[in-house]
Amino acid sequence: MCYFTIIVFNGTIECMSNVITLKLTNAQETKLYEAWSENAKTPPQYAKWQLKCENCVITCYTSGKTVFQGKEANVYASPFMEEELMQPKIAVKDILPQAGSDEVGTGDYFGPVVVCAAIVDKNTDALLHSLGVRDSKQLKDEDILKIAPEIIAKVPHSLLIVDNRKYNAVHETNNLNAIKAKLHNQAYVHLNRKYGLPQLKVIDQFTPERSYYRYIQNEPMVIRNIHFETKAEDKYIAVGCASVIARYALLKKMEEMDAKWNMHFAKGAGSNVDACAKQFVKQYGFDALENVAKLHFKNTEKLK
Ligand code: MN
Repeated sequence: MCYFTIIVFNGTIECMSNVITLKLTNAQETKLYEAWSENAKTPPQYAKWQLKCENCVITCYTSGKTVFQGKEANVYASPFMEEELMQPKIAVKDILPQAGSDEVGTGDYFGPVVVCAAIVDKNTDALLHSLGVRDSKQLKDEDILKIAPEIIAKVPHSLLIVDNRKYNAVHETNNLNAIKAKLHNQAYVHLNRKYGLPQLKVIDQFTPERSYYRYIQNEPMVIRNIHFETKAEDKYIAVGCASVIARYALLKKMEEMDAKWNMHFAKGAGSNVDACAKQFVKQYGFDALENVAKLHFKNTEKLK
């Protein structure tokens, strides 16, 4: 930060005082002090040391701030300003290890809701990048079926599959976001028990943070200090990874359902799903729907 105090003096503009404040590391403070130590003066209150150099007074405060003041403040401060800018700042999304969680199936009339939480470290991060893990929504189902088994074998994760019967029962007393919150929390509880959790835990945000913790306030155990971000599956490799594992589990479950009921359940909640539901009811009766569909969807109404 630079502050320039410009005053009008005898009709000309002169830069009287130039103040630069930096937050230096301990190593930088030492380096600076040693370079100009012959100019050391008795430090003022709240200062570790003060250097009275030519055209610049440098004061290092106990607060951690170092103030360069004088005509040539930038001459003395610039080497450290550059260093401050050059320091590679690790973006939050690149911190490893990291845990991430995501859910799938909540928008599909047929099939389960699946939530996965996964932990990615340096080694599995490299693997995931080589396999091209991005948002599972951008990966085709065939790709997911191909790459997920290796991911599942190598990445510590916790997977929760809520089948339709269970889902319909739970939905009577919980809205969708409450269900999601409880599942994400539970996935983290399992992950924590098995592997311990890293500092960074990310949820692909589906509800405000406050609502999330309100939904799970009565759970026997609550995992806190979670980072919430929308579209996190594109940004955080652990969320992308969790998304891929969850999607794989959903696809496998749908294959099982197709085989069991001898029909192909359509994805989503559109008109092809309505056609599918109609056929199912014709074959198995309306009451059997609770085994394969999320009954609160509008699609159910259309069948009556
Ligand atoms: Mn999501």
